[in-house]
Amino acid sequence: MEKFKSCGLTTHMDGAGNVCGRLGDPDQPAVLIGSHLDSVPAGGMFDGTLGVIAGLECIRVIQENNIEVNCPIEIIGTSEEEGRFGGMLGAQALSGHLTLDWLESARDPKGEYLKDALKKCGLDIHDTLRARRDPSSMKAFLELHIEQGPVLENSQKCIGVVDGISGVFKWLVKLKGKADHAGTAPMDMRSDAFMGLADFAHEISRIIDEEGTDKSRLTIGRVDLKPGYAHTIPGEAHFTIVGRDMQEDIMHQLANSCRKVLSSIARKHKLYFEYEQMSWLEPKYFSPEVVDLIEEEVKALDYSYMKMPSGAGHDIQFFTDLTPTGLIFIPSVGGVSHAPDEWSHWDDVEKGTQVLLNTLLRLAKD
Ligand SMILES: [Zn+2]
Repeated sequence: MEKFKSCGLTTHMDGAGNVCGRLGDPDQPAVLIGSHLDSVPAGGMFDGTLGVIAGLECIRVIQENNIEVNCPIEIIGTSEEEGRFGGMLGAQALSGHLTLDWLESARDPKGEYLKDALKKCGLDIHDTLRARRDPSSMKAFLELHIEQGPVLENSQKCIGVVDGISGVFKWLVKLKGKADHAGTAPMDMRSDAFMGLADFAHEISRIIDEEGTDKSRLTIGRVDLKPGYAHTIPGEAHFTIVGRDMQEDIMHQLANSCRKVLSSIARKHKLYFEYEQMSWLEPKYFSPEVVDLIEEEVKALDYSYMKMPSGAGHDIQFFTDLTPTGLIFIPSVGGVSHAPDEWSHWDDVEKGTQVLLNTLLRLAKD
């Protein structure tokens, strides 16, 4: 907020902890530049922060060069994007995707309630709800972010023009067999839950080949074997499946195929199979006119670029149904993110910021 103020911006923190700095009329619809200021434990310095600092740099360039714009520009450093309480608190508050029920009940993995954590920061959940912006107050929403993956670097491109964010589903799967003595139970008389899981893991690439696209992902990220003892046959395997694709019908095909394959594997190993769908987020597409605008500006600057989807979620996904949206990526060295050695070359940072500025000016002069 001090940095915003030192540039002469009108500054405030809303009830969700979003930090806002505005250039121009407080009541006119604004072009918003947003990204998040929080990080994960032992995270890097570019994830999120880049989009806020780059937004501030755009404002400075506009001021230093007396560039005329026809509408206000506002930078928003959002809060709590990394999902300590599940979801993206700041962006969901701004876009009106929160309910009082959820705010009352949300807890972090250690059991601390969101409402208590807010209180510690001098905020309360009713003010969090009031942070919602009316869609008519927004002219557009732009976000600059690091890719957090290896695709741009491997393709030797400086800019990613992002056309959408993958949809994601998350399942909690349980395969139940029979825990038994690892020495006395013959190999052909077991109901070994881990063997079912292992068979399923081998089927993932076939499921994607047959039902998916080059943008499909299926991941088993967490496994619990019960009772989890070296000399006991695992009676239960609990694991997560996270599936992603850019098309919702493909997501359904992947999910159906997972279900069929798990059922037949369960029969083969004499296991009982059940699953719970923990979440289903549909794919989000950015506005074609903003995507085209970003592409035009990148071409005019003669930067190398590619159109790409985002496999990770970002603040901007909550605004796609409310206002024209666009997301710009720059390369992450080695594809590393959410780690202290997360890095992006300053040359790419500059290019990404230039694309952000030029796109912003096109939208703000409209
Ligand atoms: Zn981020």
